Parts: sequence; C-alpha cells; structure tokens
Amino acid sequence: MALLDAHLEQISLCAASIAELPLIRDTELHERALFSVPPPPAVPKHVDPAAASSRRNTIFNPTGPGAGSSIAGGGANAVRAPRRNTAVAAVLGNDLVERIRRGGGGGAGSGLGYRTYDGNSKNEVDVESLLEGAEKMLGVYPIPGAQDKIAAMRQRHAQVTASIDYYEGRLAEQTVQLGRLNRNRDFIDDEDGDETAEEAPEALPLSEEDLRREEEEMRLLERKKRELEDRLRASAQAFATNVLSTAPSLYAGLSTQSERFQATLPIYQTAVKAGLIKGQVPVSLGGTSAGLIDAAVVVEELHAVEPSTAITILGTGLGLTPLILAGSKEQHEIFLRPFLQQEGERLASFVHSEPNGTANWLQRGAPGLQTTAFRHGDDWIINGEKLWTTNSGGWDQRGADLQCVVCREGQPNEPQDPDSDPSSRVLVLLVTREDIARNDFSAFQVLSDSELGGHKSVNGPHSRFTNLRVPYANTLAPPGQGAQLVERTFGMSAAIVGAMSVGLMRHAFDAALEFCKTDTRGGTTTIIRHSSVSNRLIDTKMRIEAARALTWKAMSVLESKDGNISWEQRLEIALEAKIWCSEQVVGVVEACMGVVGMKSYAIDKPFVKLLEDAVCLPLFDGGNVGVRRRQLEALFQRSDYQPWAATYV
Ligand SMILES: Cc1cc2nc3c(=O)[nH]c(=O)nc-3n(C[C@H](O)[C@H](O)[C@H](O)COP(=O)(O)OP(=O)(O)OC[C@H]3O[C@@H](n4cnc5c(N)ncnc54)[C@H](O)[C@@H]3O)c2cc1C
Repeated sequence: MALLDAHLEQISLCAASIAELPLIRDTELHERALFSVPPPPAVPKHVDPAAASSRRNTIFNPTGPGAGSSIAGGGANAVRAPRRNTAVAAVLGNDLVERIRRGGGGGAGSGLGYRTYDGNSKNEVDVESLLEGAEKMLGVYPIPGAQDKIAAMRQRHAQVTASIDYYEGRLAEQTVQLGRLNRNRDFIDDEDGDETAEEAPEALPLSEEDLRREEEEMRLLERKKRELEDRLRASAQAFATNVLSTAPSLYAGLSTQSERFQATLPIYQTAVKAGLIKGQVPVSLGGTSAGLIDAAVVVEELHAVEPSTAITILGTGLGLTPLILAGSKEQHEIFLRPFLQQEGERLASFVHSEPNGTANWLQRGAPGLQTTAFRHGDDWIINGEKLWTTNSGGWDQRGADLQCVVCREGQPNEPQDPDSDPSSRVLVLLVTREDIARNDFSAFQVLSDSELGGHKSVNGPHSRFTNLRVPYANTLAPPGQGAQLVERTFGMSAAIVGAMSVGLMRHAFDAALEFCKTDTRGGTTTIIRHSSVSNRLIDTKMRIEAARALTWKAMSVLESKDGNISWEQRLEIALEAKIWCSEQVVGVVEACMGVVGMKSYAIDKPFVKLLEDAVCLPLFDGGNVGVRRRQLEALFQRSDYQPWAATYV
C-alpha cells in the first residue's frame, strides 16, 4: 500500500506539473492550419534539368578569382514554392502562393530569390513576395529577431537592385561612348555632347571578350586622361611659379587694399593671355575647361603659391558661373564671348553678399536682400548696397566688366512681404561697365574697400547702386528663379574652396618638410628623424590627401552625367568638401608651424601669411556656420534624404 501511495503521489505531482506547463494551451494558428488541410499529393513536380541548366546564370565577378562560378536558378539554394493544399499554403493564402509560383520565371522548383539575366530581358525574381511570405509565416509562428532580419533583407534587396540598375546603365552608357570613340569622334570637342549622350543607349549583351576589350580601352582612356591632367598641372604650375609668385613683390609695400589690388593688374593680364580665364569656361561654350577635375587641378596649383591674387583670377570664373549655367545663347554671345579672348583684363563678379549679412537672405519673415530691382518699361532699376563681392569694383572702381547682381524684386525701401517665400522674388541681373557708363556717375559707386587680415590684394568693395538702369534683356534669372541659380553657383564654388584648401595646406606641408629634412636645430640629425616631428608630418599629409580626395569626389559628383543623382545629392558632397577641407587648413598650417618651431613665426617664412589666408576659407563663400552647415542641415532633414546616394557615383 505504501508503495501504491507513493506511486499515486508521484502521479498526482506529475499531473499538477503538466497542468502548469505552458505547452498545455489552445492550439496556435499554425497548429490549426496543420490540422485543417488535407495532406499534400505524394509526387513532387518534376523539374526538367535541361531547362534549368539552359537558363543563363547570374555571374558574380566574372573576372575575379571565382570566375565561372555561378549561382544558378533552380540550384541547391533555390527556394521552392509551397505545394498547394499544405498548411504553409493555407497560411500564405492562394494569391501569395500563386505569386511565388510565378516568380523567378519558372514556378515551383525554379530559382527563386535570384535575379536572372539573359542579356536582352531581365526576369525579376519576386523577392518581395518571398519576404511577404516570410512575414506571414512569422504572424503564425513568431521567431524572435526575424522581423528585423526581414526588414534588413528588404532594404538590402532594394540597394542591390538599385546598384544593378545603376551599373547596367553605366555599362550601356560606356558602350555607347566607346562606340563613338571608335568612330574617331572627338568627344571633348563634341558641341552637342549633352544631347547625344541622352540618346537611348542600345544595351547589347557583352561577351567576356567584349568586356576585356572595353577594359583595355578604358585603361587607355584613363592613361590619356592622366596625361592631359599632368600637362594641365604642369602649365598651371609654371604660371604659378613664374608669374603668380611675383604678385606679393608688386603689392607688399602698398598700404591700401585697392592699391594692392590694382598692382596685380599685370599678373591678371598675363593670366588672361595664358588662357586661365578661358580655361574656366566649358569647351561647349567656346572655353577650354574640359571638366571640374581640371578646375581642381588648376586651383590647387594657384593656391599653393599665392591665394590672394589667385582669388582675383578665380573670382572672374565665379562671376561667369551664373551666366554659364543660366544664360541664353544670345546672352552667351553678348556677355560671355568677350571673356574668351586671350587679351585684355576683363573682370567678372558674382555680386550677392550685402553689408547686413546674407546668412538669412531666404528666411521667411526676415528683411531679405536689401538690393532691389523693379521693372520700368524696358529696363530694370537697381538700388542697394553690396559688400565683399570679388572683382565687383573693377580695376578703376567703375565696375567689373560683368557683374551678376542678385536682387530682390521690389521698389527701394519696400519691405519684403513677411508671408511670401523670399525666393519667389529673387532675380539675377547682368550689369556691364557699358550699362554703368550709360547711367549717371552716381548710379554706381564704390564706397570703400575693406582692409582684410589676409588676401591682401583681393577686391571686394562696399558698393552702392542708385537707380541704376539696365536693359530688361539683361535678365539672367527672372524673379523666382534667382535663388536656385545662386545655390547652384555657390554649389560649384563650394567644391572649388576644397581645392583652394588643398593648395594652401600643400604649401605649408612642403615648407615644413623641407625645413625638417635639412635643419638639425643644433642636434646631431635632421629633425625629421625625431618621431614626434615625423608623426606630425604624417598626420598632416594624410589630412591633405583626404581633402584632395573629397574635393575630387565632389567635382566628379557635380559633373556626373548620371541622371539618377539629384542636384541636392550633388550639392551635399560639394558642401561637405567645402566645410571639411576649409576647416582642416588652419590646423594643418599650425601643425606645420609646430614642427618648424619658432622660426615658422618669422615673416621670411610663409606660415604666418598662410595662416592669415587660411582663416578666411571657412568664413567666405558662404560661412560654414551661418550658411553651409545650415544648407547641409536642410538636406539631412528632407524626407527623401538618402545619405549614400551620391557616394558610389
Ligand atoms: C575674400 C573674400 C571673397 C569673397 N567673394 C565673394 C563674392 O565673390 N561674391 C559674394 O557674393 N560674396 C563674396 N564674399 C562674401 C562671402 O561669401 C560671405 O560668406 C558671405 O558674405 C556670407 O557671410 P556669412 O556666412 O558670414 O553670413 P552673415 O550673414 O554675415 O552671418 C554672420 C554669422 O552670423 C551667424 N548666423 C547668422 N544667421 C544665422 C543662422 N540663421 N543660423 C546660425 N548662425 C547664423 C553665423 O555665425 C554667421 O557666421 C567674399 C568674402 C571674402 C572674404
């Protein structure tokens, strides 16, 4: 009995434990599904192996170490569509099962989850349906963390699909370009290059032989491009060393900003003759600029020698940029053509900044631009003041040969409507010296030239327009279109400031390296042998290389012909180049001074002057605090912001 009692007690304990187990509960959805459908037919559908193997495979990295290896549709990794009448099919629902059966171009047993290519047509595999199915299965059989994985896979799939589309587009584009090259057409001088580039490319399937030939041709093109860059760099270097470097000796002894500026006239005339102004105008408009990388090459060389006088030369490029971007054929003929001549001393100026600041020029409810223009018959009448605008005073204070003046549409002293979008009233007008000469003398006045801490020969006067009349035909951007033109102009110049920063840092580095490799400072070895010195130089060098890489990246994104990259995505990289590169410069010069030591502070060394010029870079061309970071902030906050959209261009 005792034994029986013990058994009974054991049984009742077990019963109690079982009752407490979470397993004892109502059936789950998937369990009910299991019991509510008849068993599947016994014989699986036959897959014709020949049909499966004849399908073209997706080849990853055809030239890489795994060349020839492929992932075949319908292979071991393939996901099979669920059979009808199964529990899984019940959970997924007929519609989804059907979609999965159709997906991948082959139904059950075919390769699902892979995208297959047969050269001319792309058969999309319905990855989305697979993921949807997985989500439904999770609804009845939750697995911790799986939902996140599905979300990540969905995102990854979208990225991969976008990349494939992109590379296919590139391939087609390059095929067309190479075809053109083979027909001995000069793509650089192609006047209607843009239009022809948009012709629908015929994307023919490429064999490995084709790919190899294409790679070889690309290599040759790359080599040719490098040779051209080297030649351009050499001529910019020659100008910088032989001509530009003499500018400080012309202006150093002069006491005012305007005198120093005027003293650089012979340098500017030589720059015009040497093609440095024409070189800032694209080939398609009669200039010689083949692209923005070329611009980066030249700007770096000029800034590595004499930033101040370089700004006068580059200021004309900036002044012509709105005209290049937005001018009509007729306007190019009238206003741009004179700048293509390699003689004279024509100056152009981009006239935006104002004495009261421009960081908030587009803020709703703020006073807005104080330079106004209103229409009167066939003229615009301009009133207001500008400041800091490079070259705007002209060599004789009677104005640059061409000023692109940014105005707010309205009567003078008419306040901006606090309820309207300020950009709807912004316009850009072309003002020439001839226009100024046709007006009363007082209609355009240079009030003063600010004395600057660095950039000692730059002209950026405080100027005033008083009822200055210009013909209506001088409208470069009508009201509502001016703000965008300003943004585009400053977008281009942002990347240019990256190149200026690189040039300046290079100068400091070269001077410091030279000193460290030749001077012992009373020790037994040159000071570069001390690791505390060389480590600083190493850090500096890396910052310069990184700045150049970011600048070149910005240039190539800005001029990319990839139609999938929006203006905002291009602008982002240019802004990053402007901000990051310009903010490296003071630190780099200071680090270089640190290794040279006290001697770096002497005026016969370049560092103090470099520092004076360096401080300006984060402040001008839209200050990094008040303008450039806020532009970036606005881009980041957009709902369609894609952080890496322009990264792999
Ligand atoms: C050598 C040189 C050449 C130049 N060439 C030209 C030229 O060719 N054409 C031209 O148009 N201009 C030119 N400039 C002017 C230059 O482009 C300035 O960047 C421009 O005037 C804007 O100045 P800012 O960024 O200091 O803005 P400001 O409006 O003067 O603002 C000053 C400061 O206020 C603060 N601030 C203001 N508002 C905000 C806000 N909403 N949020 C956060 N902070 C704010 C920021 O700290 C900002 O730095 C040149 C300047 C120099 C020195």
